[in-house]
Order: sequence, then C-alpha cells, then structure tokens
Amino acid sequence: MVIVMKPGVSQEKIQALVATLEKDHGVTVGVTNGVGCSILGLVGDTAHIDMDKLTMNDDVERVMRVQEPYKKANRKFHPEDTVVDVSGVPVGGGAGFAVIAGPCSVESEDQIVGVARDVKAAGAALLRGGAFKPRTSPYSFQGMGADGLELLLEAKADTGLPIVSELMAPRYCQLFEEKVDLVQIGARNMQNFDLLKEAGKLSKPILLKRGLSNTYEEWIMSAEYIMAAGNENVILCERGVRTFETYTRNTLDLSAIPAIRRMSHLPIVVDPSHAAGMYWMVEPLAMAAVAVGADGLMVEVHNDPPHAKCDGAQSLTPDKFAHLMGKLNPLIELMGKKLV
Ligand code: PEP
Ligand code: MN
Repeated sequence: MVIVMKPGVSQEKIQALVATLEKDHGVTVGVTNGVGCSILGLVGDTAHIDMDKLTMNDDVERVMRVQEPYKKANRKFHPEDTVVDVSGVPVGGGAGFAVIAGPCSVESEDQIVGVARDVKAAGAALLRGGAFKPRTSPYSFQGMGADGLELLLEAKADTGLPIVSELMAPRYCQLFEEKVDLVQIGARNMQNFDLLKEAGKLSKPILLKRGLSNTYEEWIMSAEYIMAAGNENVILCERGVRTFETYTRNTLDLSAIPAIRRMSHLPIVVDPSHAAGMYWMVEPLAMAAVAVGADGLMVEVHNDPPHAKCDGAQSLTPDKFAHLMGKLNPLIELMGKKLV
C-alpha cells in the first residue's frame, strides 16, 4: 500500500503517522521525500487496513493498493492450480474437464433419476438440481425443498453421480453438509456475507457463482470469505452478467476465465445456460468456454423443457446434451484435457 501525503505536511506529522501505522497494523513503513510531497510505502500484510479511514486523514492526498486485498485465493501466494475434490471428481488443475449437468429444479423422482442416467451416459461427472430455488417472483415455483434433496440422493444412488444443489440460507447448512456433495452459492447470494461465512464452516466444497453485476475482485473477495472461514475448496462459476444487452438473459463474460486464472488459483467453470437464457445458444457458448480454458461447464438439462417448472427455455433435452458432449470432446482433447 502506498500513501501519498499532501504537499507541505511537516516531517513531525509524517513520523507520527508512520509510528501509528507500524504500531496499529504491524507493517514497516518506508518514507520517500520528494520535491513537493512525501510518499509512504507500507510493507507487510495490509489486507486488513481500511483505505477509506486513511483517506479521511487531512494530511493524506491519496491511498493506493499495490497488492490485492485477497490472500488465500490469490495466485501470488499459491502459484499452482487448486484441484477441488468433489466426492472423488477432481475439478481444476488443467488436465481434467468436469461437466455438471441436470435440471434447473428437481421436480419428481422420474424426472431427476431419468435425467441423471441420461447425462451420465453422455459423459457428465456431476448431477445438478435445485431444491431450494431463488426466484424473482414469490408466486413462482420455489423448489421442492428438503424433499428435492432426497430425490437427488436417489438419483445419486442410481447413477453414482455426486450431486450439486444451491444453499440459500444459513439455516439449511447442516442439511446440505449431510446430503450434498458440492454446495452451490447462487448469483443472488454471492455477497450474502453471513451465508458465505457459514459456507466456510462446511466440510463440503463450494461452487460460488458470480453475482449479477459483480467485478472479478468482488467475486474473489467472496471466495476469500469462504476460505477465511476455513473452507479452501471453492470453485468459481461464471454465469453471465448484466449488461445493456437485453437479447440474451445475461452476457457471458468469457474474459473472466483468463483473468481469474491470473488472479487466483481456484478452478473456474462456465454456466452457458443462465448466461444465454436460450437453449440454442448453449452449444456455441459451451464450445467457447472450453476454448478459453475453463475447467468445466454447468449445463441445464431437462427431460421436457416446455413443461419445466423453471428455466425451460434455456434447458437442453438429453438428446441435445449428448450431441453437445459429442462436439465438445474433440475440443477438450485439443486443449490437452480429458473429461473427468
Ligand atoms: C441455478 O443454477 O439454477 C441458478 C439459479 O443460477 P444463478 O444463481 O447463476 O442465477
Ligand atoms: Mn436455472
């Protein structure tokens, strides 16, 4: 962190600030006296220093961070890729490509077991299905709740696929700890800090979706919350962000993959379904995600999209999903990876 002092601030005042910074924050401060002003360089762990408070000091012109405010998620302090183990399925690490597939919501035993069999046969490694649904309207289907998790467990018993489902509130943490293999934190809850802290206490890995309008740094800071609370197994999921474009549901931000790769060691997967909002756009976006280096995909698949209780328009039929997997496979190999 660098603090630029206002012109003309006395050396006594500067030394007093240096002493306070060193005492209160355990950092070492180097002072450079320029022609018009002095610059303080803070060395040490500055992540916990509140920049705004320093800016309030009348003698301070400007405060700049030279280091990112995230530590545990930062690639600088952890150069190798993290591989997250989801009940035996490795996600991340550059060699494997993990496909998560399944319906937006669990609707019935037949539906979820049938889709689980189909997506497994096509090459998916993990089964998704929402049981607690974050819906824009309180009058829309809210999910089957705990019963939905039981049906996911039946599909898991039938196919062996580990299950992924969204945790919406801290009160369900224990339930998810017991039942779910990969705990999803949805876009709308990306900055629900209480939920993130509780997710950090779980032993299960977390799939952290990017918020509707959040920057890479805000997203990584949310991963940092989970990691700081003790759970270092976090997978990031780019699912499109809000832009001025209304043709698509969201705009898939493919730049996120190389950017996050540079900023963090955590695995990153892409959800083309929620990004596009339209089933026919899922295939080209999924291909692009592979090409840009994602560690995997999350794709919505429904046995009867026109009658789906949630997100039917963006869901692939099992046939279309199998076709997509056939097209992705050579591209995954070209990238030097293999389906896990
Ligand atoms: C979902 O995965 O079904 C979902 C609600 O996604 P998002 O949080 O990205 O909108
Ligand atoms: Mn959905």
